[in-house]
Parts: sequence; structure tokens; C-alpha cells
Amino acid sequence: MTRTTPSRPLDVTVAFPELASLARTAVRLHPLPGAPTVHDSSVGGPLLWPADEPWPEHEPTYRYSGRLTTLEDVRTLRAVLTRAWSRPRGPRQNLLNEREQELVDRIHAGHSAELLPPGPQPLIPLAQFYARDVPGLPFPEGTDLLQVLWVPSAEIEGCSPAVQLRWRLSSQVEQVLAAPPEPACVEDGDHVPEPCLLHPEPVREFPPSHLLDEEWAARLLKWSEEQSVDYGNDLSVAPGWKAGGWPAAFTFRDAADSDELHCGECGGPVEALLTIGSSEWDGATGSWRPVEEGQDSEDGEKPTGHPYRTTHEPTMVTIGRGYTLQVYYCVGTPSHLPRTIMQ
Ligand SMILES: [Zn+2]
Repeated sequence: MTRTTPSRPLDVTVAFPELASLARTAVRLHPLPGAPTVHDSSVGGPLLWPADEPWPEHEPTYRYSGRLTTLEDVRTLRAVLTRAWSRPRGPRQNLLNEREQELVDRIHAGHSAELLPPGPQPLIPLAQFYARDVPGLPFPEGTDLLQVLWVPSAEIEGCSPAVQLRWRLSSQVEQVLAAPPEPACVEDGDHVPEPCLLHPEPVREFPPSHLLDEEWAARLLKWSEEQSVDYGNDLSVAPGWKAGGWPAAFTFRDAADSDELHCGECGGPVEALLTIGSSEWDGATGSWRPVEEGQDSEDGEKPTGHPYRTTHEPTMVTIGRGYTLQVYYCVGTPSHLPRTIMQ
């Protein structure tokens, strides 16, 4: 199954030839729910992890205060709601039957934070990428697999062992860890990815306006208004999950500067590695909707699909209020802890 991004509405390099040298190739990952194995590139799938290597852990730096959930509850809730939304329903019929409603209420009530044993918590798999599928990633010499793990909590932002990278050579993994440890409870079910297979597609990107000098950005903005396109949404950076390319635009806060944007371990420069989008496209970025997804719905803006499990939110990972988490890696030492910023 392929996924194809429509051509951009305009070629920005015709009006701004100087942008051509700043083009980068990003790989849109196009995750789609499936049943990945350790041998697949995936989001939320099992990792090719050596049985004799310790599983990554992180001790929360604060005491979780709200109600917690479990990975099993997250999976159960999604399965119940998916089934319920798929059923035909009469005008006065409730979405959930009585048994389902009880189950959903129990899951929404959550668990007391006291259920979480003190001490380090195992991370959960977020994604893994084989070089054969996503060749543009900065694989250090002698590696062909990147694995990303995190703690489903507010700590995914910053630079801490709550988000970890492993670069490895897949052929060196002889015995695979069959049953990785799982945390007893997690703080944020919205950070638990659905198992998805990937359908990588290279696309051309141009710098987001915060990385252009002000005068240039202003000229681009004026030109794109005259052309009735939106540079940020349509011409520069692809939305959704992607590897490499330019970092996502800053949408709700000021752009990060060098005080924030550096390796937390060595202070060196960082670059965009992985972009985790809350949706693959939305009303503003509908021009990136893959052609295989068909046309937009009646108002031309709202993404269509299953009312609960939608095609534009395949991973079910939500960052903040629908923002993007940009993962930056240390250029000098890619095995350093990544820097992550909600953008
Ligand atoms: Zn570093």
C-alpha cells in the first residue's frame, strides 16, 4: 500500500530561486494501524531488542498527581469505542451498551497514583526505523536500525531519559527480547501509540519561516498571500509523522533559540530527527492529504473517516492540544539523549 502526497499547489522556487539550495528531503512515515513485528519499521510496534540488553527505564522527576491509566486500559478503551462507532445505530440509541458504558466509566475513573510503585519505570516503544525503509536518517557508521522509546507522561518534553534513542546493527541482535517489561501505570494515555506499519514517502521541504531571516520571511508571506496559498501550511514543512527534513513550525509559542535548542548532554548542535504530529493533516494542511485517502468531506476541510478511529490520526498519539513534538538529535554524538520541543 502506497501513500502519495499531492504536488504542492505552487513551486516556491520559481518565485524564490534562492530557496532551492535550502530544500531538504523529509520522509513522511504515513503510519497506518496494523500488526508490525520486530522486523518491521513501525510506530508503536515491538522492538528488535537484544534479550541480554537492559530495557531502558526512567524514574519520574515528580510525583504523578492525577488519576493514572494502564496500557491495558488504553487498549481496551480504544477497542470498545472503535467497535461501538462501527455499529449501525438508531436515532435514540446510545453509542455504548450498558456493559460497555460500565467498562468505559471504570477506565475513565483511572487508578490512584499510589498504584505506581516508586522507582524507575520501564519506557514503552514509540517507533523503530530500519535504514532500508527510511534511508535518509543519520545512521551512525555500522548501524541500520533506530529505536525510539519514551515514558507516556508530561516528561516527553525536554532532554531526559524519559525519551531515549538506540542506534543498532540489526544483524547483531541474535536473541530478541520476547516480553519487554511494561509500566504498571502511565500518566498519559494520549502518549500510547497504536501499533502502526509505515509507508514511507520522501517529500521536498523548505525551511519553516522561523528559520528564515525576517525580511525574507516577510517577502514570502506577502507573495504567498498574493498567490492565495499559505507558505507555512502548504509549501514548507509536511504535517504528521516524518523523519528528517526541516523541523516543524512553532505554532503556539515563540521559536526556540540556542538557549534551548542544543544537546542537553554535551551542549552541541542538534538537528531535526523525528517529527511526531498529532494528526497527519488537518483543515489547514489538507493539501498534504494523501491522494489514496480520496477527497475531503463536504466542507472541503474536515478530515473524514471513522468518527472515533480516523484516518488522519492513525497513531492516536496526541501532543498537548493537538501540537507537534519535534525530536532533535545531537549531531556530534547521535546516541546522546534527544532534545524534544512541543511546537
Ligand atoms: Zn550531545
